[in-house]
This record gives sequence, C-alpha cells and structure tokens, in this order.
Amino acid sequence: MSRHLLSRKLQNMSESATIKMAQKARELKAKGIDVISLSLGEPDFDTPDFIKDAAIQALKDGYTKYTPVPGLPVLKEAIAQKLKRDNGLDHELNEIMVSNGAKQCIANICLSLLDEDDEVIIFTPYWVSYFEIVKFCGGKPVPLYAGIDQDFKVRPEQLEDVINEHTKLIIFSSPSNPTGSLYSKEELEALSQVILNHDNLFVLADEIYEYINFIGKTASIGAVSGMKERTLTVNGMSKGFAMTGWRLGYVAGPSWIIDSCAKVQGQFTSGANAFGQVAAAHALRAPLDETFAMRDEFKKRRDLVKNALDQIDGLNTNNPEGAFYFFPEISSFFGRSNGKRVIHDADEFVDVLLDEANVAVVTGTAFGDPNSFRLSYAASEEQLESATERMQNVLGSYK
Ligand code: PMP
Ligand code: GLU
Repeated sequence: MSRHLLSRKLQNMSESATIKMAQKARELKAKGIDVISLSLGEPDFDTPDFIKDAAIQALKDGYTKYTPVPGLPVLKEAIAQKLKRDNGLDHELNEIMVSNGAKQCIANICLSLLDEDDEVIIFTPYWVSYFEIVKFCGGKPVPLYAGIDQDFKVRPEQLEDVINEHTKLIIFSSPSNPTGSLYSKEELEALSQVILNHDNLFVLADEIYEYINFIGKTASIGAVSGMKERTLTVNGMSKGFAMTGWRLGYVAGPSWIIDSCAKVQGQFTSGANAFGQVAAAHALRAPLDETFAMRDEFKKRRDLVKNALDQIDGLNTNNPEGAFYFFPEISSFFGRSNGKRVIHDADEFVDVLLDEANVAVVTGTAFGDPNSFRLSYAASEEQLESATERMQNVLGSYK
C-alpha cells in the first residue's frame, strides 16, 4: 500500500511552492538557524482591532451556526456596496458568493466551468495555485507569458494568438502575484476587445491585492462595457485587511455560475464561518484608514527593497505598482560560481540564498518563469534591510 494508490489527479498535483518554502523556513528557524523568510505572501500586520471586536460580538450574538451556503445576506450586501463604491460594479445579491478564502472561490469556479479539453489561459508569471487548480479540475492550463520587458503584462495581440475554440476561461491577478504589475483601465479595455470577439469565453479576475496599490486606484475588467456577463471578480479579506487566517473570500459574477459555485460549496464545505462573515461585513463597510496605513507601509518597504536590489549586479527588477512582491530576472547569474558552487538555474539560485544567506524566497519555476525568483516584502523594514544586505554579500561572491 503506498502513494501509487492515490488518485491520478492527486499524483499529478504539485504541492504549493510558496507554502512549502514557508514551511521549510519555519523548520530551519525551529532548529535555531536565523532564517529571514521572504517566501510567503502574507501581511505581517495583525487584523485591525475593530474587526476582531466585531467577530467577538458576533460570537456573543449567537453567530455560531451554519449560514446560507453562499454567505450571510448582511455580508453579501456589504460586498455589493463595496463593489459599487470601489469597482464600479453593480451586482445583485444572487450574483455574489462568500467562500473559505479567494482560493476556494477559484476552485469553485473551475469546478463549475471546466470539462476535459477546456483550455484555460493563465497570464504568466502566474500565482502558483491557478495552474494546479485548473489541472485538478480537468482543464488544460495554457500559460501566456509576458516578460519583464513588457512589465509582465500580456498584450491584446498575444491574447488573440492563443485563443482557440477550446478556450473557456482566462485567469489573471491585478495587482499581480508574483510580479506586482497592475493593468490600467485602458489595458483592460484593450484585452476586453479581444475577449468580446469570442463566444463562451470567461474571465476570472483576481483582485485580492486591490487595496495594496501605490497608484491610488485599480481598475476592474468586469466594469468594462460588455464584460459583466463574462467576468468572475474574485476578492477577499486576506490581504487588504490582514485576515489570512480568517479564510474569507468572495466572488461576484453571472448568477448561473454563482448558483453552480454554491452547489459545489454545499457539497464540499457548507460555506464560510458565521461570526467571521459578520466581522467581514463590518470591515467592508468601515472607512479604509487602517487598510491604507498598511498600504503606505508596504510602499515604504517597496522603495527600500527596490533600492537595495538595484545595487545587486545582475538582478533585473521592475518597479511594482502593487501587491508586496518583487520578481527579479536572474538569468545573468546562471553559470556564475563562488569557486565552490555553480548556479545553474532559478531553483539553485534560491537554494544558494537559503543555504548561504539564510534568506528564504521562492523559485520562479513555481510561477511559470524559470529565469526569476519571488521575494515577498511583507516583513519588517529591519528584516528587509538585513535580508537584502545578506543577499548582496552572498550574490556578490558569485562571479
Ligand atoms: N489569489 C492570489 C493572487 C493570492 O496571492 C492569494 C494568496 N493567498 C489568493 C488568491 C488566496 O487568498 P485567500 O487567502 O483569500 O484564499
Ligand atoms: N498567496 C500567498 C502566496 O502566494 C499565500 C500562500 C498561498 O496561498 O499559496 O505566498
């Protein structure tokens, strides 16, 4: 009895590289090694107190039971208002659903829409889980690569070239994990022109980093004329409100797809936790002062890390406009040696950083780009200063 008895689907699924690296860093720390982990995309801030207080009050008020599978009406109303206020999206309550994190929204959508042979275009570099969720749901992931020379953003003509009669869904995040790039309204309009020329083609727009942007405002593809019927707008509480552990995300889209997601969720999890939903409604309704204070901290850190990375010969970085990641291009390191060890590829590059600098980052391979690595700057300024200094020292020894 062993692994070969596991389902083929499961055997084909890779472990989440971000979670795996974060775990490795935790284990090294537990052994007493002074590892700085810049591997996980998780705000290091705590959830604002007013949200915690709302959850405690909700528990006391008896929100301890199952909720309707697609979510409590009070939260769906808050989401509808938020989508109107921030995104120019008009959604009825039956077009909104709450799940255990944005991750489960994405899984519900893929389980609802994909059959064998359905192709899913994934803008690449992509967030690790898109690829594996699509595969697990039976779809065929089709990575569409945009490199640093185009700020990691797919151009309309590239998109047109890969769409065929099997294409059912397009997935991307903006602001992007892992590149921090962000599509402007005009860029989304241009992509929409391509999408609207093809029947039965949907978009999963992952906007979970919406509030962590350094340009003031992001745009939503679902708000482009004609795109509402085609778009599933995914968002959640994890990043903007520092609520990763609460496991609360939501999606808005056509009611017939939302109904199907609810059917899946009714069988798999019954829905998200009750008292957290009440607290999330408070968070979405309140002024965003604490969210923006966290965003301002992230911007300071972005500038600090950009400055430090620019001083490392051979790293090529963009200037990310959102999220909390850098995704430097590192191919000029391939073949370099410190006299004892040679860096051949991105996997070895991140091993060198872990072994010699005690800095944990994630290989670009996991994000569909073998020439890069991802650094999460959701860490204190002190940790970031120390980590980038260690990186400079170690990488400087590879000639
Ligand atoms: N989308 C992206 C792009 C992410 O980086 C993450 C990070 N966890 C998620 C979705 C999932 O978020 P959640 O915690 O809401 O499941
Ligand atoms: N989204 C975060 C990341 O990319 C959290 C880990 C995960 O969910 O994969 O690191």
